Parts: sequence; structure tokens; C-alpha cells
Amino acid sequence: MERQITSTIPAQTLSEGVGAIVHRTIGSPRLNRLDPFLLLDEFTSHGDEEGGGKDGGGFPDHPHRGFETVTYMIDGRMEHADNKGHWGIIGPGAIQWMTAGKGIIHSEMPANEAGEPIRGIQLWVNLPAVDKMTAPRYQEVSAENIPEVALDGGGKARIIAGTFKNVEGPASGIAVDPLYLDIHLTPGSKTVIDLPVDHAGFVYGLEGTFTVGAGSHGAESHGEGAQLVETRMLAVLSSGTKVTLLAGDKGARLLLIAASPLNEPVARHGPFVMNTQEQIQEAMDDFREGRF
Ligand code: FE
Repeated sequence: MERQITSTIPAQTLSEGVGAIVHRTIGSPRLNRLDPFLLLDEFTSHGDEEGGGKDGGGFPDHPHRGFETVTYMIDGRMEHADNKGHWGIIGPGAIQWMTAGKGIIHSEMPANEAGEPIRGIQLWVNLPAVDKMTAPRYQEVSAENIPEVALDGGGKARIIAGTFKNVEGPASGIAVDPLYLDIHLTPGSKTVIDLPVDHAGFVYGLEGTFTVGAGSHGAESHGEGAQLVETRMLAVLSSGTKVTLLAGDKGARLLLIAASPLNEPVARHGPFVMNTQEQIQEAMDDFREGRF
């Protein structure tokens, strides 16, 4: 069963942190959440053409509880540090899968020379109720340890989480069984990717343009109903067992991300995502009283 696009969400550009710019799709008014995904931001800083963070924009100390933050760097380096003594730098092509669980306070700041561009993707993935108060955990994987496979139609896929063409991505032990692929398509190429039928899924355009679905005829002559996915645009996919991607005439780079929905109540207040309002109040009290 072919997956199709059910809606497209162009990013909303916002100022976040201190002097940083984010381009938000999930978590914006157009798409509050896509269970189990809570937020998707493309963040930019130093040297960005839109002027984001010319004096060193980033995300100083802030808390998280009840979900996972997943940072994938496209360009540049971000330095992170938390109140449990964890520290590191995430460089281009690297991933940090952070399970905040019962709570951390951390900072995420540019580690580039002034003026060098920074671009990355931050995804928030919800935790099931039973895991919301788990101990915090980090999975950090450098670019050279993320496997790549060639695509039949031309191009490659980097496998960050899940299994694709019998190759397993390095991020593991995640409750919602995610598939996270960074897909590079050569101009005009077509590729078919298998997905678990009931996983919620989306694609997000990073470079170039592409269409989705077996009925696609490419960017040049996309037919009735075939929607072009452009950069900084998210397309929600219908359920199904596979998705067909067709690159435009300049090729495309995109993220394909899917995971099992939780179907649990969501109570959300800024960086706290729990199941009930009482748990949100408890999170705010714990944070204010220094129990993170
Ligand atoms: Fe954070």
C-alpha cells in the first residue's frame, strides 16, 4: 500500500533561545503534533542569510522532562552541556539522541568560529507514560559511525535509527521504534522505501525538490494531485507499507522519519511534556525547587 501526502506544512520562522532562528513545522499552529512527534525545528545560527545569531545565537540553560530531543547536525558544530556533568560537541552529520526522562537542564550553543554557518534539525519524540520518569540517557554518534547505503534509483541513505536494507542505524532502544533516514536523491531519481504500516511518518525537505507517491511524474511535470515538497517544508504521510520518492531535476535531500504512535494523553507546557496537568505542575515545582 502506497503512502501519499495528506498535508504539507511550510515552516514557520521564529526567534528562539538567544539570537537563534528556528524554522518550525511540527509544534507550529499548522501541526501541533504528529504522535509520537512533538516538534521539528530546523535551527540556524551564525552566518545565516536571514541574520540569525550574528552575535552567537544558541540555546542557553533550559530544562526538559518527559520526552526525547534528537539533534542532527547538517552544517557546523554545537556544544552541549548539562547539569549532570555531561558535555560534548556534535559536528556535521552527527546525531545526539537525548532521552530527557525525569529531567535535565542543558545548554546547546554554537561551537563554530564567528560567521560560520550552523544548521541542524531538532526533533522531539514523546516517551510512553511508563518511561517519562526514566533516568536521562544520551546516545551520541559521530558522522563516520552512521551507516550509508546506496539507493537503487541513485543516491544514498544515511541510517540514523531503525533498519533499512538490512542495515541498522546506531540509535537504539527507543520506545517508539523509529526509522530516521537522511536521504540524498540524484536528479530525477526514483526510490521506494518500505515502512511499518502503522508508523506515523513524514518527509522534510532539506535541499532541492521531490514528489511522493507512485503516481508522481517528477518536478517538471508533476501531475494532478502530486504535491511538490520543497525545502523547509514537511509533508505528512498517510499509512501504508511503502513510500515512493521522486527527485526533481536538481536532486533532493530530505529526512524520512517514522515511528509508532503512542495514543496516550498529552499535557504540554514548554519544555515539559507529560500525560496530565498534575504532572506538568509537578514538573514546574520540581524545576523551580532545584530537583532536576
Ligand atoms: Fe534542549
